[in-house]
Amino acid sequence: MVVAESNNATLLQNYLHGRWCSPSVDEHLDVCNPSNGKVLAQVPLSGETEVNQTVSAARDAFDAWRNTPVAERCAPVRRLAELMRENFEPLARQITEEMGKSLPDARAEMKRTIENVDVACGMPTLMQGENIMNCAAGIDGEVIRLPIGVFGMIAPFNFPAMVPFWFLPYAVAAGNTFVLKCSEQVPMTMQAHFKLIDQCGFPPGVVNLVNGDKRASQALVHHAEVDGISFVGSSVVARQIAETCARTGKRCQALGSAKNYLVVMPDAKFDLVVQNMLTSCLGCAGQRCMAASAIACVGEKTYRKVCDQFSAAAAKATVGDPLDPDLNDKQLVIGPVINSAAKQRIEGLIAAGVDEGATLLVDGRGTEVSGCEGGNLIGPTVLADVQPGSILERTEIFGPVVIILKFDSLEEAIATVNRHEFGNGASIYTQSGYWARQFKTETKAGMIGINVGIPAPVAYLPFGGMKGSIFADIKGQSKEVVRFFTESKIITERYWPEDEEVD
Ligand code: NAD
Repeated sequence: MVVAESNNATLLQNYLHGRWCSPSVDEHLDVCNPSNGKVLAQVPLSGETEVNQTVSAARDAFDAWRNTPVAERCAPVRRLAELMRENFEPLARQITEEMGKSLPDARAEMKRTIENVDVACGMPTLMQGENIMNCAAGIDGEVIRLPIGVFGMIAPFNFPAMVPFWFLPYAVAAGNTFVLKCSEQVPMTMQAHFKLIDQCGFPPGVVNLVNGDKRASQALVHHAEVDGISFVGSSVVARQIAETCARTGKRCQALGSAKNYLVVMPDAKFDLVVQNMLTSCLGCAGQRCMAASAIACVGEKTYRKVCDQFSAAAAKATVGDPLDPDLNDKQLVIGPVINSAAKQRIEGLIAAGVDEGATLLVDGRGTEVSGCEGGNLIGPTVLADVQPGSILERTEIFGPVVIILKFDSLEEAIATVNRHEFGNGASIYTQSGYWARQFKTETKAGMIGINVGIPAPVAYLPFGGMKGSIFADIKGQSKEVVRFFTESKIITERYWPEDEEVD
């Protein structure tokens, strides 16, 4: 990795014009290992000047890149997939070190990241248009798809590798140029990826990285030379960015927050369901937009069984530093949450929930692990007797906290899911095809699971929610996102016969 040293901590760099560059800014932020608080690096907080330079690099590169044949544009993307495979384990460990998720979770993230790069290599097929011959007498119709220009992407902390790659490889393979603003909380993973990008043969300016916080995001969103923004993060910011883009005529897809329900029906295969729910709820310490965070049980017996068996299984999870080799053989490792403010917020929500009448079945507050004294650990926490509309039900907690609710019917459970502000994912556990069909057609969530935990779709399918979980018409990943990164033109054409020569 190309780095400069500052105050003994590694000072991270921006990447533009195909070169690493140290922004001349005064403000830096410590990047800490959330397991123990150790400072890993310092990230520069770029401002408008640095964003302008980066966007200029992307703008300068656009004309030549959009005229490069699509197969040639895919060559460096394919090389990137190879390099990511060769560096798989160090990249996964980098994610774990700065974000705190377990190594199996980080490896799963890297697999999905690479899968997206692989899918984008199909761009010669993905961006093909359509035509219809003879749509009127002697007239043909054609739809062609063309690259648009410079795209910006603003990423959240919880998937430092995968989320940027829901967009980056598709945008550039389709002939656009790209500026990534990664999360200032986890910038090291993208430094490592851009080290690989640097070796792939992209022309200078096609792929660029700018480090910074919300000021850099805002400069990107307001920049007149940026044609579109992909944003992933909290809904409050997503909505604001979507509004700005609407006002300034930019394309925008802004993916936001979530509260994902697992609905358990009385006929569910109980022995398999509990383990399945456990990883869905507590993987990545619940810091996933696709974490299950509420379990809706239909019927008293189902509720009792879930309360007993789920809380017993959750209490057995291992809490600690996921890079501790002693944890390698543990089934479910819960690492830290991202920072001390998040820990405080989550613990405050648990207390507020109890004040509102929820019953703590497992309490993860106050969890202490030797070696993690400076870290942000919270153990698995399970609360029952939670009511729709209560603080625990309304709020995206984004930690290892699960609430259990009881309903008399599937209709009541679906109505509660549908009333919620967010609608990212929802799953049902049942053996009944009838209930499953009712659930998949009537539930207002963008990604539905049937007898699987909340499912993050593979890269061959789109990714995105509904309601307050998305401010966009076009979702991420797969062929779907190619529509976002290309402009369609509709051509209607006719050719008259040549005039006959008249002597
Ligand atoms: P966040 O909204 O705080 O930050 C996301 C990005 O936006 C960061 O790069 C940050 O620097 C920037 N930012 C923050 N405030 C801003 C502002 N006012 N203006 C412009 N930019 C701003 O989110 P986070 O805490 O990093 O990530 C967690 C959130 O992301 C959760 O709500 C989670 O559900 C959501 N998320 C959603 C999806 C999805 O697919 N829907 C995927 C991952 C994460």
